[in-house]
Amino acid sequence: MSGMQNGRGGVVAPDVPPGAPPAFHLLAKPTGSACNLDCAYCFFLETEKLYPGARSRMSDELLERYIRQLIEAHRAPEVTIAWQGGEPLLMGLEFFRRALALAGKHARPGMTVSHSIQTNGTKINGDWARFFKDNGFLVGLSLDGPRALHDAYRRDKAGRPTFDKVMRGLAALREHGVEWNALTTVNAANAAHPVEVYRFLRDQCGARFIQFIPIVERPTESGVPYGETVTDRSVAPGQWGDFLSGVFEEWVRRDVGEVYVQMFDVALANWYGEPAGLCVHSPTCGAALALERNGDVYACDHFVEPAYLRGNIGERHLAELVGSPEQRQFGRDKLDTLPQYCLGCDVRFACHGGCPKDRFTRTPAGAMSPSGESLAGEPGLNYLCPGFKAFFHHIDAPMRRMCELLRAGRAPAEIMAEHGVDEAGSATQGGD
Ligand code: SF4
Ligand code: SF4
Repeated sequence: MSGMQNGRGGVVAPDVPPGAPPAFHLLAKPTGSACNLDCAYCFFLETEKLYPGARSRMSDELLERYIRQLIEAHRAPEVTIAWQGGEPLLMGLEFFRRALALAGKHARPGMTVSHSIQTNGTKINGDWARFFKDNGFLVGLSLDGPRALHDAYRRDKAGRPTFDKVMRGLAALREHGVEWNALTTVNAANAAHPVEVYRFLRDQCGARFIQFIPIVERPTESGVPYGETVTDRSVAPGQWGDFLSGVFEEWVRRDVGEVYVQMFDVALANWYGEPAGLCVHSPTCGAALALERNGDVYACDHFVEPAYLRGNIGERHLAELVGSPEQRQFGRDKLDTLPQYCLGCDVRFACHGGCPKDRFTRTPAGAMSPSGESLAGEPGLNYLCPGFKAFFHHIDAPMRRMCELLRAGRAPAEIMAEHGVDEAGSATQGGD
């Protein structure tokens, strides 16, 4: 089934292909990878190599085509328009005003359109903050911890630190009451300081929604990662587990129900037997695509590589690209390519093998199946596996207890008193 061209050069909506998700995420990058910063670990800068000399901004024509197709491709009554970069604020306020007007023009009656944007925060001022507040934007702010930890890698193009600018942007968001999330990468510089990072976000920044993202960065050739080694900015697998466990120990004693840490919420859902709500720790994926500034759609923001190009929305409708057999297979591959070692893992229900982008190591020497067969050296194991395993084992007892509380109709937050008593005297893990 192919989208037809209409008289205005647009692509007419096809019937949504069977098997296409009723709703999906699509991260649109209106500036491509263009950014005013030059963060040492940024993988988006690699995607620039795919588009040398290409127009560096999304055109108005493409903007309308994208928003119309995004809305047409959704069968669910809610649709989220999600902007990312690069640095999307480089587009200027007018671009986003046009996007809002177009969403209003194309939304079906009864449809709810939400808006989110991921930014490094350095360009946020009162005008931006008012705009976000007035239009209900959810703002994801990249912030790696207190000054020294943040500035370790998050620098501008001249190599200058960015902490003060980001904090000014955050102050504007808070002053205007904008809903915001902290998006904090965990890398070689901050990984040994979980409690310091977490307390900074909670106490100094007032964060109530926090996402931790592990930096796993491999060398690339023409934008495509290769090999089994990682750069020295990457978090080590054990560090990732220790970091999460360290934050968890602080959170479970005083912040349950108050501070939302995505990883803990996802874990609780998996322990409780509900959908995790995060692709990385779900059995399959494939419903989180990426749109480049020229209309190219890729399987995922982490697979902006020629082999994962699904097509261009100027030639084929987004509904077709999202529901294409290749994209559905991409999502199933997350499950189908799990090594045997994962299939027999006792925390697979919580982990699901992590993100395929990080599955480039081999199973360890001595790995055995339950029947005694050697599973050593199998390819396709997640680089972060030892960290996942340690973390999920670490939180098993409190997760079970929170599930008991939930099943009894009680609040999981009750665990705070109990956990504090049960664990009295034990040192906070991973403390700073
Ligand atoms: S490849 Fe990774 S980030 Fe992309 S959709 Fe799958 S699990 Fe999510
Ligand atoms: S913890 Fe390791 S072995 Fe277990 S499912 Fe996750 S990646 Fe696989």
